Amino acid sequence: MKRIVVLGAGESGTGAAILAKEKGFDVFVSDMGEIKAPYRAMLDQHGIKWEDGHHTAESILNADEVIKSPGIPLTAPLIVKLQEQGTPVISEIEFAARYTNAKMICITGSNGKTTTTSLIYDILRRAGLNVGLAGNIGASLALQVAHEHHDYYVIELSSFQLDNMYDFRANVAILLNITPDHLDRYNYEFQNYVNAKFRITQNQTKDDAFIYWSEDPVIDKEIKKMSLGATLYPFGKTGNAAYVRGNDLIVEANDCLQMPVGDLSLRGKHNQLNSMAASIAAQVLHIKKDVIRESLRQFAGVEHRLQYVATIRGVRFVNDSKATNVNSCWYALESMTTPTVLILGGKDKGNDYSEIDELVRRKCHTLVFMGLHNEKLREHFAACNGVSETFTGCDGKPLRIIDTDNLQDAVNGAYGAAAEGDTVLLSPCCASFDLFKSYEDRGEQFMNAVRRL
Ligand code: ADP
Repeated sequence: MKRIVVLGAGESGTGAAILAKEKGFDVFVSDMGEIKAPYRAMLDQHGIKWEDGHHTAESILNADEVIKSPGIPLTAPLIVKLQEQGTPVISEIEFAARYTNAKMICITGSNGKTTTTSLIYDILRRAGLNVGLAGNIGASLALQVAHEHHDYYVIELSSFQLDNMYDFRANVAILLNITPDHLDRYNYEFQNYVNAKFRITQNQTKDDAFIYWSEDPVIDKEIKKMSLGATLYPFGKTGNAAYVRGNDLIVEANDCLQMPVGDLSLRGKHNQLNSMAASIAAQVLHIKKDVIRESLRQFAGVEHRLQYVATIRGVRFVNDSKATNVNSCWYALESMTTPTVLILGGKDKGNDYSEIDELVRRKCHTLVFMGLHNEKLREHFAACNGVSETFTGCDGKPLRIIDTDNLQDAVNGAYGAAAEGDTVLLSPCCASFDLFKSYEDRGEQFMNAVRRL
Protein backbone atom coordinates (compact mmCIF):
# COMPACT_ATOMS: atom_id res chain seq x y z
CA MET A 1 0.00 0.00 0.00
CA LYS A 2 1.36 3.44 -0.95
CA ARG A 3 2.21 5.65 2.02
CA ILE A 4 1.14 9.28 2.00
CA VAL A 5 2.40 11.69 4.63
CA VAL A 6 0.58 14.97 5.14
CA LEU A 7 2.62 17.79 6.70
CA GLY A 8 0.50 20.39 8.47
CA ALA A 9 -3.04 19.64 9.63
CA GLY A 10 -5.02 22.80 8.99
CA GLU A 11 -7.97 23.00 6.61
CA SER A 12 -6.07 21.78 3.55
CA GLY A 13 -3.97 19.11 5.28
CA THR A 14 -6.90 17.54 7.11
CA GLY A 15 -8.95 17.48 3.90
CA ALA A 16 -6.05 15.90 1.98
CA ALA A 17 -5.58 13.24 4.66
CA ILE A 18 -9.27 12.29 4.58
CA LEU A 19 -9.32 12.08 0.79
CA ALA A 20 -6.11 10.00 0.77
CA LYS A 21 -7.54 7.62 3.37
CA GLU A 22 -10.75 7.20 1.39
CA LYS A 23 -8.70 6.44 -1.72
CA GLY A 24 -7.04 3.57 0.14
CA PHE A 25 -3.60 4.99 1.02
CA ASP A 26 -1.68 4.39 4.24
CA VAL A 27 -1.90 7.92 5.67
CA PHE A 28 0.13 9.65 8.39
CA VAL A 29 -0.28 13.30 9.43
CA SER A 30 2.43 15.32 11.19
CA ASP A 31 2.22 18.91 12.39
CA MET A 32 5.02 20.86 14.12
CA GLY A 33 2.45 22.99 15.98
CA GLU A 34 -0.66 21.95 17.86
CA ILE A 35 -3.44 20.53 15.68
CA LYS A 36 -6.71 22.33 16.42
CA ALA A 37 -9.35 20.25 18.20
CA PRO A 38 -11.87 20.09 15.32
CA TYR A 39 -9.19 18.84 12.91
CA ARG A 40 -7.94 16.28 15.47
CA ALA A 41 -11.52 15.04 15.81
CA MET A 42 -11.91 14.74 12.03
CA LEU A 43 -8.67 12.75 11.74
CA ASP A 44 -9.70 10.42 14.57
CA GLN A 45 -13.12 9.93 13.08
CA HIS A 46 -11.52 8.69 9.86
CA GLY A 47 -9.03 6.46 11.70
CA ILE A 48 -6.03 8.49 10.50
CA LYS A 49 -2.78 8.34 12.51
CA TRP A 50 -1.34 11.72 13.48
CA GLU A 51 1.24 13.48 15.66
CA ASP A 52 1.63 17.12 16.66
CA GLY A 53 4.21 19.33 18.39
CA HIS A 54 7.06 17.66 16.49
CA HIS A 55 7.97 15.77 13.31
CA THR A 56 9.19 12.16 13.66
CA ALA A 57 11.63 12.00 10.75
CA GLU A 58 11.55 8.20 10.29
CA SER A 59 7.73 8.19 9.96
CA ILE A 60 7.95 10.89 7.30
CA LEU A 61 11.03 10.10 5.22
CA ASN A 62 9.57 6.66 4.32
CA ALA A 63 6.64 8.27 2.46
CA ASP A 64 5.98 7.53 -1.22
CA GLU A 65 4.53 11.01 -1.58
CA VAL A 66 4.20 14.02 0.74
CA ILE A 67 1.38 16.58 0.75
CA LYS A 68 2.68 19.83 2.21
CA SER A 69 0.69 22.64 3.78
CA PRO A 70 1.25 25.96 1.95
CA GLY A 71 2.42 27.44 5.29
CA ILE A 72 5.59 25.31 5.36
CA PRO A 73 8.46 26.94 3.44
CA LEU A 74 10.33 24.96 0.78
CA THR A 75 13.50 25.65 2.77
CA ALA A 76 12.29 23.81 5.91
CA PRO A 77 14.99 21.16 6.66
CA LEU A 78 12.54 18.25 6.39
CA ILE A 79 11.31 19.41 2.97
CA VAL A 80 14.89 19.84 1.73
CA LYS A 81 15.70 16.30 2.89
CA LEU A 82 12.60 14.84 1.20
CA GLN A 83 13.49 16.56 -2.04
CA GLU A 84 17.11 15.43 -1.84
CA GLN A 85 16.02 11.80 -1.53
CA GLY A 86 13.61 12.23 -4.46
CA THR A 87 10.29 12.00 -2.59
CA PRO A 88 7.61 13.97 -4.46
CA VAL A 89 6.25 16.89 -2.39
CA ILE A 90 2.92 18.21 -3.69
CA SER A 91 0.16 20.58 -2.62
CA GLU A 92 -3.32 19.63 -1.49
CA ILE A 93 -4.82 21.11 -4.68
CA GLU A 94 -2.50 19.00 -6.88
CA PHE A 95 -3.53 15.87 -4.97
CA ALA A 96 -7.27 16.58 -4.89
CA ALA A 97 -7.43 17.44 -8.60
CA ARG A 98 -6.40 13.86 -9.47
CA TYR A 99 -9.77 12.65 -8.22
CA THR A 100 -12.20 14.95 -9.99
CA ASN A 101 -13.11 15.74 -13.58
CA ALA A 102 -14.70 19.05 -12.63
CA LYS A 103 -13.75 22.18 -14.54
CA MET A 104 -11.18 24.19 -12.61
CA ILE A 105 -11.40 27.98 -12.53
CA CYS A 106 -8.32 29.27 -10.70
CA ILE A 107 -7.48 32.77 -9.52
CA THR A 108 -4.13 34.15 -8.43
CA GLY A 109 -2.44 37.56 -8.11
CA SER A 110 -0.94 39.69 -5.36
CA ASN A 111 -4.22 41.51 -4.61
CA GLY A 112 -7.88 40.87 -5.41
CA LYS A 113 -7.92 37.06 -5.29
CA THR A 114 -10.65 36.61 -2.68
CA THR A 115 -12.87 39.29 -4.19
CA THR A 116 -12.61 37.91 -7.73
CA THR A 117 -12.96 34.28 -6.63
CA SER A 118 -16.10 35.11 -4.64
CA LEU A 119 -17.58 37.11 -7.51
CA ILE A 120 -17.06 34.28 -10.02
CA TYR A 121 -18.59 31.84 -7.54
CA ASP A 122 -21.59 34.16 -7.20
CA ILE A 123 -22.06 34.34 -10.99
CA LEU A 124 -21.80 30.58 -11.44
CA ARG A 125 -24.28 29.92 -8.65
CA ARG A 126 -26.74 32.43 -10.06
CA ALA A 127 -26.39 30.60 -13.39
CA GLY A 128 -27.53 27.42 -11.60
CA LEU A 129 -24.25 25.52 -12.02
CA ASN A 130 -23.17 22.91 -9.49
CA VAL A 131 -20.09 24.72 -8.20
CA GLY A 132 -17.75 24.50 -5.21
CA LEU A 133 -15.57 27.26 -3.73
CA ALA A 134 -12.08 26.23 -2.62
CA GLY A 135 -8.43 27.13 -2.13
CA ASN A 136 -7.80 29.81 0.46
CA ILE A 137 -11.54 30.17 1.06
CA GLY A 138 -13.97 27.84 2.81
CA ALA A 139 -13.64 24.05 2.90
CA SER A 140 -10.57 22.49 1.29
CA LEU A 141 -10.79 21.21 -2.27
CA ALA A 142 -9.75 17.75 -1.06
CA LEU A 143 -12.59 17.51 1.46
CA GLN A 144 -15.12 18.60 -1.16
CA VAL A 145 -13.76 16.09 -3.67
CA ALA A 146 -14.03 13.38 -0.99
CA HIS A 147 -17.58 14.12 0.14
CA GLU A 148 -19.40 16.22 -2.47
CA HIS A 149 -19.80 16.23 -6.20
CA HIS A 150 -19.32 19.43 -8.14
CA ASP A 151 -19.05 20.07 -11.87
CA TYR A 152 -17.04 23.26 -11.37
CA TYR A 153 -14.63 24.52 -8.73
CA VAL A 154 -13.63 28.16 -8.30
CA ILE A 155 -10.26 28.07 -6.55
CA GLU A 156 -8.23 30.88 -5.00
CA LEU A 157 -4.54 30.01 -5.33
CA SER A 158 -1.69 31.61 -3.42
CA SER A 159 1.86 31.45 -4.71
CA PHE A 160 2.61 28.98 -1.92
CA GLN A 161 0.01 26.56 -3.22
CA LEU A 162 1.27 27.00 -6.77
CA ASP A 163 4.84 26.20 -5.64
CA ASN A 164 4.00 22.51 -5.34
CA MET A 165 1.72 22.05 -8.32
CA TYR A 166 3.09 20.10 -11.28
CA ASP A 167 0.48 18.21 -13.35
CA PHE A 168 -2.52 20.30 -12.33
CA ARG A 169 -4.25 22.02 -15.22
CA ALA A 170 -6.52 25.04 -14.84
CA ASN A 171 -9.30 25.16 -17.44
CA VAL A 172 -9.63 28.85 -16.72
CA ALA A 173 -6.66 30.63 -15.10
CA ILE A 174 -6.73 34.25 -13.93
CA LEU A 175 -3.67 36.31 -13.04
CA LEU A 176 -4.83 39.65 -11.62
CA ASN A 177 -1.57 41.50 -10.91
CA ILE A 178 1.92 40.97 -9.52
CA THR A 179 3.51 43.32 -6.98
CA PRO A 180 6.29 42.37 -4.54
CA ASP A 181 4.96 40.29 -1.64
CA HIS A 182 6.17 37.37 0.50
CA LEU A 183 9.74 37.90 -0.68
CA ASP A 184 11.02 36.32 2.54
CA ARG A 185 9.70 33.00 1.16
CA TYR A 186 11.33 33.50 -2.25
CA ASN A 187 14.95 34.06 -1.28
CA TYR A 188 14.34 37.83 -1.68
CA GLU A 189 14.26 37.32 -5.47
CA PHE A 190 11.17 38.92 -7.00
CA GLN A 191 11.56 36.73 -10.12
CA ASN A 192 11.07 33.60 -8.00
CA TYR A 193 7.72 34.96 -6.83
CA VAL A 194 6.78 35.90 -10.41
CA ASN A 195 7.65 32.38 -11.57
CA ALA A 196 5.45 30.91 -8.83
CA LYS A 197 2.48 33.03 -9.96
CA PHE A 198 2.96 31.96 -13.59
CA ARG A 199 2.74 28.29 -12.62
CA ILE A 200 -1.02 28.84 -12.89
CA THR A 201 -0.57 28.59 -16.68
CA GLN A 202 1.40 25.34 -16.74
CA ASN A 203 -0.17 22.41 -18.65
CA GLN A 204 -2.82 24.67 -20.23
CA THR A 205 -3.77 23.95 -23.85
CA LYS A 206 -5.60 26.05 -26.41
CA ASP A 207 -8.90 24.70 -25.05
CA ASP A 208 -8.12 26.51 -21.81
CA ALA A 209 -8.30 30.22 -21.05
CA PHE A 210 -5.64 32.45 -19.53
CA ILE A 211 -7.13 35.76 -18.34
CA TYR A 212 -4.67 38.46 -17.25
CA TRP A 213 -4.37 42.21 -16.65
CA SER A 214 -2.51 43.46 -19.72
CA GLU A 215 -1.48 46.77 -18.12
CA ASP A 216 0.48 45.15 -15.32
CA PRO A 217 4.12 45.79 -16.30
CA VAL A 218 5.40 42.63 -14.63
CA ILE A 219 2.84 40.37 -16.31
CA ASP A 220 3.33 42.10 -19.65
CA LYS A 221 7.11 41.64 -19.56
CA GLU A 222 6.82 38.00 -18.54
CA ILE A 223 4.27 37.10 -21.22
CA LYS A 224 6.57 38.44 -23.92
CA LYS A 225 9.26 35.99 -22.75
CA MET A 226 7.00 32.92 -22.69
CA SER A 227 5.09 30.82 -25.15
CA LEU A 228 1.80 30.01 -23.49
CA GLY A 229 -0.40 27.11 -24.59
CA ALA A 230 -3.73 28.63 -23.52
CA THR A 231 -6.07 30.95 -25.41
CA LEU A 232 -5.27 34.42 -24.09
CA TYR A 233 -7.86 36.86 -22.73
CA PRO A 234 -6.15 40.10 -21.66
CA PHE A 235 -8.20 42.79 -19.92
CA GLY A 236 -7.74 46.47 -19.08
CA LYS A 237 -7.01 48.24 -22.39
CA THR A 238 -9.36 49.12 -25.25
CA GLY A 239 -9.43 46.21 -27.67
CA ASN A 240 -8.84 43.64 -24.92
CA ALA A 241 -11.47 41.06 -23.95
CA ALA A 242 -12.75 43.53 -21.33
CA TYR A 243 -12.15 47.24 -20.76
CA VAL A 244 -13.82 50.51 -19.77
CA ARG A 245 -14.93 52.89 -22.52
CA GLY A 246 -16.32 56.21 -21.31
CA ASN A 247 -18.68 55.31 -18.49
CA ASP A 248 -19.25 51.74 -19.64
CA LEU A 249 -17.73 48.40 -18.81
CA ILE A 250 -17.41 46.29 -21.95
CA VAL A 251 -16.79 42.56 -21.97
CA GLU A 252 -16.48 40.81 -25.31
CA ALA A 253 -14.65 37.56 -24.68
CA ASN A 254 -17.51 35.69 -26.27
CA ASP A 255 -20.81 37.52 -26.21
CA CYS A 256 -20.83 41.33 -25.94
CA LEU A 257 -21.84 42.74 -22.56
CA GLN A 258 -22.02 46.47 -21.94
CA MET A 259 -23.12 48.11 -18.70
CA PRO A 260 -22.52 51.40 -16.87
CA VAL A 261 -19.56 51.28 -14.50
CA GLY A 262 -21.80 53.09 -12.00
CA ASP A 263 -23.99 49.97 -11.82
CA LEU A 264 -21.17 47.76 -10.49
CA SER A 265 -21.79 46.88 -6.87
CA LEU A 266 -18.03 46.78 -6.17
CA ARG A 267 -16.53 50.27 -6.11
CA GLY A 268 -13.08 51.50 -7.14
CA LYS A 269 -10.78 51.05 -10.10
CA HIS A 270 -9.32 47.85 -8.72
CA ASN A 271 -12.79 46.36 -8.51
CA GLN A 272 -13.48 47.31 -12.13
CA LEU A 273 -10.48 45.12 -12.97
CA ASN A 274 -11.73 42.31 -10.73
CA SER A 275 -15.17 42.61 -12.36
CA MET A 276 -13.60 42.41 -15.83
CA ALA A 277 -11.64 39.28 -14.96
CA ALA A 278 -14.72 37.61 -13.45
CA SER A 279 -16.93 38.53 -16.42
CA ILE A 280 -14.46 37.14 -18.95
CA ALA A 281 -14.31 33.88 -17.00
CA ALA A 282 -18.11 33.73 -17.00
CA GLN A 283 -18.30 34.40 -20.74
CA VAL A 284 -15.69 31.72 -21.45
CA LEU A 285 -18.01 29.34 -19.56
CA HIS A 286 -20.93 30.52 -21.75
CA ILE A 287 -22.91 32.12 -18.96
CA LYS A 288 -25.69 34.38 -20.18
CA LYS A 289 -25.00 38.10 -20.04
CA ASP A 290 -28.15 38.81 -18.01
CA VAL A 291 -26.87 36.55 -15.25
CA ILE A 292 -23.42 38.18 -15.30
CA ARG A 293 -24.97 41.64 -15.25
CA GLU A 294 -27.25 40.76 -12.33
CA SER A 295 -24.33 39.44 -10.29
CA LEU A 296 -22.12 42.46 -11.06
CA ARG A 297 -24.97 44.69 -9.85
CA GLN A 298 -25.96 42.75 -6.76
CA PHE A 299 -22.82 41.02 -5.50
CA ALA A 300 -22.59 41.89 -1.81
CA GLY A 301 -18.78 41.98 -1.71
CA VAL A 302 -16.49 40.27 0.74
CA GLU A 303 -16.15 41.28 4.39
CA HIS A 304 -13.28 43.61 5.37
CA ARG A 305 -12.67 44.72 1.75
CA LEU A 306 -14.01 48.25 1.31
CA GLN A 307 -17.01 47.08 3.33
CA TYR A 308 -19.62 49.72 4.08
CA VAL A 309 -20.31 49.77 7.84
CA ALA A 310 -22.74 52.59 8.67
CA THR A 311 -23.48 56.28 8.23
CA ILE A 312 -23.60 58.19 11.51
CA ARG A 313 -24.69 61.84 11.47
CA GLY A 314 -23.76 62.01 7.81
CA VAL A 315 -20.30 60.38 8.25
CA ARG A 316 -19.79 57.18 6.24
CA PHE A 317 -17.62 54.47 7.79
CA VAL A 318 -15.80 51.95 5.56
CA ASN A 319 -13.91 48.87 6.75
CA ASP A 320 -10.96 47.91 4.52
CA SER A 321 -9.06 46.03 7.22
CA LYS A 322 -7.78 43.53 4.63
CA ALA A 323 -5.61 46.31 3.15
CA THR A 324 -2.48 44.94 4.76
CA ASN A 325 -0.09 46.52 2.26
CA VAL A 326 0.37 50.03 0.85
CA ASN A 327 -0.76 49.06 -2.65
CA SER A 328 -4.22 47.96 -1.52
CA CYS A 329 -4.65 51.18 0.52
CA TRP A 330 -3.77 53.08 -2.66
CA TYR A 331 -6.73 51.47 -4.44
CA ALA A 332 -9.03 52.11 -1.48
CA LEU A 333 -8.12 55.83 -1.41
CA GLU A 334 -8.41 56.03 -5.17
CA SER A 335 -12.04 54.88 -4.89
CA MET A 336 -13.01 57.59 -2.34
CA THR A 337 -15.42 60.20 -3.66
CA THR A 338 -15.74 62.37 -0.49
CA PRO A 339 -13.22 64.08 1.83
CA THR A 340 -11.66 61.27 3.82
CA VAL A 341 -10.29 60.58 7.28
CA LEU A 342 -7.87 57.68 6.87
CA ILE A 343 -7.06 55.34 9.77
CA LEU A 344 -3.79 53.53 9.12
CA GLY A 345 -0.94 51.81 10.97
CA GLY A 346 -0.14 48.51 12.63
CA LYS A 347 2.70 46.09 12.06
CA ASP A 348 4.85 47.60 9.33
CA LYS A 349 6.26 45.11 6.77
CA GLY A 350 8.96 47.42 5.41
CA ASN A 351 6.36 49.78 3.93
CA ASP A 352 7.12 52.66 1.61
CA TYR A 353 4.29 55.13 2.27
CA SER A 354 5.33 57.50 -0.52
CA GLU A 355 3.13 55.37 -2.83
CA ILE A 356 0.04 56.99 -1.24
CA ASP A 357 1.41 60.56 -0.81
CA GLU A 358 -0.40 62.04 -3.78
CA LEU A 359 -3.74 60.42 -2.90
CA VAL A 360 -3.45 61.47 0.76
CA ARG A 361 -2.99 65.08 -0.37
CA ARG A 362 -5.90 64.86 -2.80
CA LYS A 363 -8.43 62.86 -0.78
CA CYS A 364 -7.69 63.21 2.98
CA HIS A 365 -7.82 66.07 5.46
CA THR A 366 -6.93 63.93 8.50
CA LEU A 367 -4.80 60.86 9.15
CA VAL A 368 -5.33 58.78 12.26
CA PHE A 369 -2.36 56.60 13.20
CA MET A 370 -3.38 53.43 15.03
CA GLY A 371 -0.49 51.26 16.20
CA LEU A 372 1.92 50.41 18.95
CA HIS A 373 4.80 51.82 16.88
CA ASN A 374 3.79 54.87 14.87
CA GLU A 375 7.32 56.29 14.55
CA LYS A 376 7.67 55.52 10.85
CA LEU A 377 4.29 57.08 10.05
CA ARG A 378 5.12 60.18 12.13
CA GLU A 379 8.37 60.57 10.28
CA HIS A 380 6.98 59.98 6.79
CA PHE A 381 4.06 62.38 7.21
CA ALA A 382 6.19 64.88 9.19
CA ALA A 383 3.80 64.96 12.15
CA CYS A 384 4.30 67.80 14.61
CA ASN A 385 1.76 68.97 17.22
CA GLY A 386 -1.25 67.41 15.49
CA VAL A 387 -0.49 68.56 11.94
CA SER A 388 1.88 67.65 9.14
CA GLU A 389 4.72 70.07 8.49
CA THR A 390 4.96 69.12 4.81
CA PHE A 391 1.57 67.77 3.67
CA THR A 392 -1.45 69.84 2.70
CA GLY A 393 -4.79 68.04 2.89
CA CYS A 394 -7.71 67.95 0.43
CA ASP A 395 -9.18 71.09 2.07
CA GLY A 396 -6.04 73.12 1.36
CA LYS A 397 -5.07 73.24 5.06
CA PRO A 398 -2.15 71.41 6.69
CA LEU A 399 -2.99 67.71 6.97
CA ARG A 400 -4.27 66.99 10.51
CA ILE A 401 -2.75 64.05 12.37
CA ILE A 402 -4.19 62.13 15.32
CA ASP A 403 -1.76 59.73 16.95
CA THR A 404 -3.31 56.78 18.83
CA ASP A 405 -2.29 53.39 20.16
CA ASN A 406 -5.71 51.75 20.37
CA LEU A 407 -8.83 51.27 18.30
CA GLN A 408 -11.29 53.12 20.52
CA ASP A 409 -9.24 56.33 20.49
CA ALA A 410 -8.72 55.97 16.74
CA VAL A 411 -12.46 55.64 16.02
CA ASN A 412 -13.41 58.46 18.40
CA GLY A 413 -10.69 60.70 16.97
CA ALA A 414 -11.70 59.96 13.38
CA TYR A 415 -15.37 60.62 14.11
CA GLY A 416 -14.50 63.89 15.84
CA ALA A 417 -12.42 65.02 12.87
CA ALA A 418 -15.01 64.10 10.22
CA ALA A 419 -17.65 66.52 8.98
CA GLU A 420 -21.04 65.62 7.54
CA GLY A 421 -20.53 64.11 4.06
CA ASP A 422 -17.02 62.77 4.86
CA THR A 423 -15.87 59.17 4.89
CA VAL A 424 -13.86 57.51 7.65
CA LEU A 425 -11.80 54.77 6.01
CA LEU A 426 -9.93 52.07 7.88
CA SER A 427 -7.32 50.93 5.33
CA PRO A 428 -4.25 50.29 7.45
CA CYS A 429 -1.40 49.46 4.97
CA CYS A 430 -0.08 47.18 7.71
CA ALA A 431 -0.53 43.76 9.27
CA SER A 432 -2.72 43.68 12.36
CA PHE A 433 -0.66 41.67 14.81
CA ASP A 434 0.49 44.52 17.07
CA LEU A 435 -2.99 45.17 18.49
CA PHE A 436 -5.24 42.45 17.01
CA LYS A 437 -5.39 38.69 16.44
CA SER A 438 -5.91 39.04 12.69
CA TYR A 439 -7.20 41.45 10.06
CA GLU A 440 -10.67 39.95 10.59
CA ASP A 441 -10.46 40.72 14.33
CA ARG A 442 -9.34 44.29 13.52
CA GLY A 443 -12.25 44.74 11.10
CA GLU A 444 -14.81 43.29 13.55
CA GLN A 445 -13.59 45.49 16.41
CA PHE A 446 -13.69 48.53 14.14
CA MET A 447 -17.27 47.82 13.05
CA ASN A 448 -18.38 47.22 16.65
CA ALA A 449 -16.77 50.48 17.79
CA VAL A 450 -18.50 52.37 14.97
CA ARG A 451 -21.87 50.86 15.85
CA ARG A 452 -21.37 52.00 19.48
CA LEU A 453 -20.81 55.66 18.49
P1 ADP B 1 -6.33 38.89 -1.77
O1 ADP B 1 -7.23 37.70 -1.57
O2 ADP B 1 -5.47 38.75 -3.00
O3 ADP B 1 -5.56 39.31 -0.56
P2 ADP B 1 -8.69 40.61 -1.56
O4 ADP B 1 -9.76 40.44 -2.57
O5 ADP B 1 -8.87 39.99 -0.23
O6 ADP B 1 -7.30 40.13 -2.17
O7 ADP B 1 -8.40 42.18 -1.39
C1 ADP B 1 -7.34 42.58 -0.52
C2 ADP B 1 -7.13 44.07 -0.58
O8 ADP B 1 -6.61 44.42 -1.88
C3 ADP B 1 -8.41 44.86 -0.41
O9 ADP B 1 -8.18 45.72 0.66
C4 ADP B 1 -8.65 45.62 -1.69
O10 ADP B 1 -8.92 46.97 -1.43
C5 ADP B 1 -7.35 45.45 -2.50
N1 ADP B 1 -7.60 44.99 -3.88
C6 ADP B 1 -8.62 44.21 -4.31
N2 ADP B 1 -8.53 43.97 -5.64
C7 ADP B 1 -7.40 44.58 -6.08
C8 ADP B 1 -6.75 44.70 -7.35
N3 ADP B 1 -7.25 44.12 -8.46
N4 ADP B 1 -5.61 45.43 -7.40
C9 ADP B 1 -5.09 46.00 -6.29
N5 ADP B 1 -5.68 45.95 -5.07
C10 ADP B 1 -6.81 45.24 -4.94
